[in-house]
Amino acid sequence: MTRGATLFVGCEPEVAAGPDGRILVVGPEARVAAGRGAEVIRLRGRAFPGLIDAHIHLEGLADRKLTVDLTGLSSLEETLARVEAWAARLPEDGWVIGSGWYNDAWSNPAFPSKRHLDSAAGGRPVYLRRKDGHSAWVSSAALRLAGIEAGTADPAGGVIDRDGRGTPTGILRETAMQAASTLVPRPTEADFDAAMAETLGELAEVGLTSVHSMDTSRGFGSLQRLHANEAMKVRVTYNLPLADLHHAERMGVRSGWGDEWLRIWGVKAFLDGSLGSRTAEMLDGSGTARLPQADLVEMIDRCARAELNVCLHAIGDGAVRRALDALARRRDAWRYWRPRIEHAQCVNPKDVPRFARIGVIASMQPIHAVADRELADQYWPRVTAQSYAWGALERAGARLAFGSDAPVESADPRLGIEAASSWRRRAGWHPELALTRAKALRAYTAGAAYAAGMERHVGSLRRGKLCDVTVMDDDGVAATIVGGAVSWTRTPR
Ligand SMILES: [Zn+2]
Repeated sequence: MTRGATLFVGCEPEVAAGPDGRILVVGPEARVAAGRGAEVIRLRGRAFPGLIDAHIHLEGLADRKLTVDLTGLSSLEETLARVEAWAARLPEDGWVIGSGWYNDAWSNPAFPSKRHLDSAAGGRPVYLRRKDGHSAWVSSAALRLAGIEAGTADPAGGVIDRDGRGTPTGILRETAMQAASTLVPRPTEADFDAAMAETLGELAEVGLTSVHSMDTSRGFGSLQRLHANEAMKVRVTYNLPLADLHHAERMGVRSGWGDEWLRIWGVKAFLDGSLGSRTAEMLDGSGTARLPQADLVEMIDRCARAELNVCLHAIGDGAVRRALDALARRRDAWRYWRPRIEHAQCVNPKDVPRFARIGVIASMQPIHAVADRELADQYWPRVTAQSYAWGALERAGARLAFGSDAPVESADPRLGIEAASSWRRRAGWHPELALTRAKALRAYTAGAAYAAGMERHVGSLRRGKLCDVTVMDDDGVAATIVGGAVSWTRTPR
């Protein structure tokens, strides 16, 4: 059976989509264009271009469904109680795996130790990623299995926290996490795929039609299986880790390979850590540089040669400057060269105009500002006026692409739009850095589309583009439409 045209009515504006899932007409002419045989879908609310999250971790979201979730807890005691309840269901030597703990939000914000976990988890190996993913809290059994003891040296780009006598405390930062993380058992393919499918469904529910994922081959494999089963609810642009660059080079995979539902775009590399883990690389010399400049330059040259884009994680003003310095050497590497700096949470005023000059996209997550405000005031007191500075970057001509960094923060784009616009004024936190709502929405649509080379296909409601639409009313998202088909709708009351 061939599919005919689809007509979305009752929303403003009305939209007609052709059998190919692309927009025929937007506005009053839609009914005529759809023709008599069209399937009519009745909606209510305003129709916006489909929302795109330019930075999300699908694997992390899926994993969270299969492990103990410690987000939002307000004390060490509460966190340990949840770990204890989870561990009780496991075999005696089973790994307790989890994430989301956040000592900065606890009543006592001191970093916890392995001893807490040893008793809560009954001696089991425990691996708990911190909310920002830049440190892990592990038990004595996990340290033993990972071979980490008093005499173990810190790996390059990482820190093993130690007490006064040099004994590891159970906190592993940045690359030091790897010795333990590689031991953590993985869920089965079937369990993981089910969790991934559920994750995509939830993203459609908050109005997203596309996401740019920052994942490994594990997530990509799962997405390919879902795609083969036509179980994708949102489009995914996959960005691979730097560690896999050599595979892509050897295979000749380029940015844009794939189809409208699942495609490859950039290579993600970490230049520094995070504000919360105190590992953001700052111009004042503090923090951790994770990728030395020579390696960064080499990576960019390799990616440019392979016609792969780059997504450079840089949070501190030092890391951002290094990224810009390295990117300035290659301005027009090839036709779809769209280098991005991910996060850009602190940008020195001298570097703000360089984004537009060099053609670097600022891929930012406004919701971070809401969560980080107090930390920024505490750790970055001299530079908060240039932190989360989307307003300044936009005025200086930088292209913006907004996302959520979920599961670090909520994936709900409405929270991000709010954080980028009216929240700054309402909170009175450097309100001059706020954007208008329309400009924030643009960074979640046209801006994010450009940041993945998709501007001819998505990002606005125009004839010939894919019919990706987010319909919103006063109660929030009313419907999400991807390729002319409803991927989520609120049940009518
Ligand atoms: Zn991220």
